[in-house]
Amino acid sequence: MSYINILFPCQIKGKTLFLLIFISGCKFPSKFLQCLIFRSSGWSAMADDQMRDSETDMRVSKTESDIRESNTEAETEVFAFQAEINQLLSLIINTFYSNKEIFLRELISNASDALDKIRFESLTDKSKLDPQPELFIRIVPDKTNKTLSIIDSGIGMTKAELVNNLGTIARSGTKEFMEALQAGADVSMIGQFGVGFYSAFLVADKVVVTTKHPDDDQYIWESQAGGSFIVRKDVDGEPLGRGTKVTLFLKEDQLEYLEERKLKELVKKHSEFISYPIYLWTEKTREEEVSDEEDEETSKEEGEVEDVDEHKEAKSKKKKVKKVYHEWELINKQRPIWLRRPEEVTREEYVAFYKSLTNDWEDFLAYKHFSVEGQLEFKAILFVPRRAPFDLFDTRKKMNNIRLYVRRVFITDNCEEIIPEYLGFVKGVVDSDDLPLNISREMLQQNKILKVIRKNLVKKCIEMFFEIAENKEDYAKFYEAFSKNIKLGIHEDSQNRTKLADLLRYYSTKSGDEMTSLRDYVTRMKEGQKYIYYITGESKKAVENSPFLERLKKKGYEVLFMIEAIDEYVVGQLKEYDGKKLVSATKEGLQLEDDSEEEKNKREEKKKSFENLCKTIKEILGDKVEKVVVSDRIVNSPCCLVTGEYGWTANMERIMKAQALRDNSMAAYMSSKKIMEINPDNPIIEELRKRAEVDKNDKSVKDIVSLLYETALLTSGFSLDDPNAFAGRNYRMLKLGLNIEEEEEAGGDDTDMPALEEEGNEESKMEEVD
Ligand code: ADP
Ligand code: MG
Repeated sequence: MSYINILFPCQIKGKTLFLLIFISGCKFPSKFLQCLIFRSSGWSAMADDQMRDSETDMRVSKTESDIRESNTEAETEVFAFQAEINQLLSLIINTFYSNKEIFLRELISNASDALDKIRFESLTDKSKLDPQPELFIRIVPDKTNKTLSIIDSGIGMTKAELVNNLGTIARSGTKEFMEALQAGADVSMIGQFGVGFYSAFLVADKVVVTTKHPDDDQYIWESQAGGSFIVRKDVDGEPLGRGTKVTLFLKEDQLEYLEERKLKELVKKHSEFISYPIYLWTEKTREEEVSDEEDEETSKEEGEVEDVDEHKEAKSKKKKVKKVYHEWELINKQRPIWLRRPEEVTREEYVAFYKSLTNDWEDFLAYKHFSVEGQLEFKAILFVPRRAPFDLFDTRKKMNNIRLYVRRVFITDNCEEIIPEYLGFVKGVVDSDDLPLNISREMLQQNKILKVIRKNLVKKCIEMFFEIAENKEDYAKFYEAFSKNIKLGIHEDSQNRTKLADLLRYYSTKSGDEMTSLRDYVTRMKEGQKYIYYITGESKKAVENSPFLERLKKKGYEVLFMIEAIDEYVVGQLKEYDGKKLVSATKEGLQLEDDSEEEKNKREEKKKSFENLCKTIKEILGDKVEKVVVSDRIVNSPCCLVTGEYGWTANMERIMKAQALRDNSMAAYMSSKKIMEINPDNPIIEELRKRAEVDKNDKSVKDIVSLLYETALLTSGFSLDDPNAFAGRNYRMLKLGLNIEEEEEAGGDDTDMPALEEEGNEESKMEEVD
């Protein structure tokens, strides 16, 4: 972005102001012309210089090189907010939200994150803490200037980070958050969407961020929203050493946030568990007895003394003085909650801790607070949230919500090894006594202690899920949000697969409106039933009346409906439950135990009488089907298409087709095996058999077979390769049913219809004109 900056001073009401004009490019200067007015404060050196200039020549006769020279000191750049962020800012500013106080929590949370980062870096390199060894958050209310500042000695931001993080780079949560807001969500959710910083504009109409990163100079970011912000090097401001200072110029109706009492209350409410000291710049008074001379001396010494009340005692040399002074007051004194004994912590405290940990606006669904002792010691609190985050399976974002501490010192919240991916939605803290303090990310990857911690965390998580399952309503909520995670766990975590299988819930032919567990399924199994049957498909509706289930239903065997894409992978890994094989109702080789020998023989006989028809159908369909057989599984429908035991199911084929980047070579051999099963008891099949016996080359036989095949594709969950051919055949059959002869149709419909319509239109138009 290149701007031409023109800077010239002018005087308004005796104050020096600088008028800065930015012109971007030269094509449409007017469109990009922006004027910003700065007060001279902080630029005093330059101001004097320029004042002298302006005194001698008020028409600003500075040469170009003069201007360039003065600009090198503090070149100001203007940036436009990224479009969505800009929208978000307008929404924040122009909509009324009652819950504005959360801005403080967001800014403190950012400060805490920045402190975490520098602390982590300092673990391997102590010198990183120079020149500011102390890690703190400070809050400074300034009633005179109506500003509130939040200062941290965290990692700070480089100039590039300042520009990117606070305005120009789109954040994935921005749009989602605005949608949530418009759907009636509360503004306090902002932190969860990763745009918490902008909540500053709930209470301030101008925000100034001063920041110093160890690798860059001190920079200032400033904005009053309105589409843009500016960034410049801080040439003469007070050096921060390291860290960030966010100064809010409070709106006139938000001055309550300058009150000590209010600020203390807010920190207690929202930021109590921040693990860095939070200091508030507080005003105190004390009475002192001093002699006249002493008094004078001290008031000269202490710059902070603002107000001195003198109560002179008659004729005495000593006097009582009421002194107003300021000091930093520590306002978060909590001992880390995980170090306390679970019996001593109230539910409210857990909720407050959870909220401060996660930025969640709701409380948790379940928690587990435990310590592991013995060979290895650590303490942990784990939480299950009430809902899935909006980006649960966003692969761009690494999900890890466990904060790792070593002996109270925060190490990282980005350690993938601490919990498996499928449990990425579990939030909490782990505080280890055994890990070395100066552990690096690389070391964490292979650390044995961490492996043991991970194993324990998984165990505790699963325990916690079973506890949730004791309450039906809670479990329904949990399952709706995180069933995919459980299923992913079954796919990936072979050690815990059996345990996780007990957490599965499915609708079934017998479950009604509630889902059933595999355990309950087993207790309902019919006598003699050996297998657990399931069908996979797109939705409950698509599978519950599937022809595949006909005979299973007739026999009273329950069938589970697996209707999520991931279920295909689950059964692929699970294979059996409680010693009973999981069997797909749509795959080849579905074995049903027949009731009697007599019945078996009868079926065998019937099968034989249909052998010829099977051959004929195979001839007509050719490569479309692998083979044609007489079915054991259908009762009413004429036929269905099953897939090979080891190939993809129709559902899997659908899922794979939907994957844009899939490799086509796989599809060739995984999806080709379709077996057509025909129902000998169905009247259509019976009629077909008769006709084929008379003349297997009869045109109607071919048509019927094709139509049956195509219809079976649909009812079996596949998609049609050539929907037009199918439609054509269907229309022919319709005409046949309606006794319309082929010749009549030829010259008839298509061409006449539009003509008729046109005439009609014209008529009505003419009527309108009349
Ligand atoms: P989030 O904290 O979820 O990333 P925010 O909108 O609160 O989203 O903050 C945006 C980014 O701005 C942060 O990720 C961080 O990089 C940067 N940032 C904000 N405040 C600070 C701070 N006090 N110190 C350093 N960086 C900060
Ligand atoms: Mg934040």
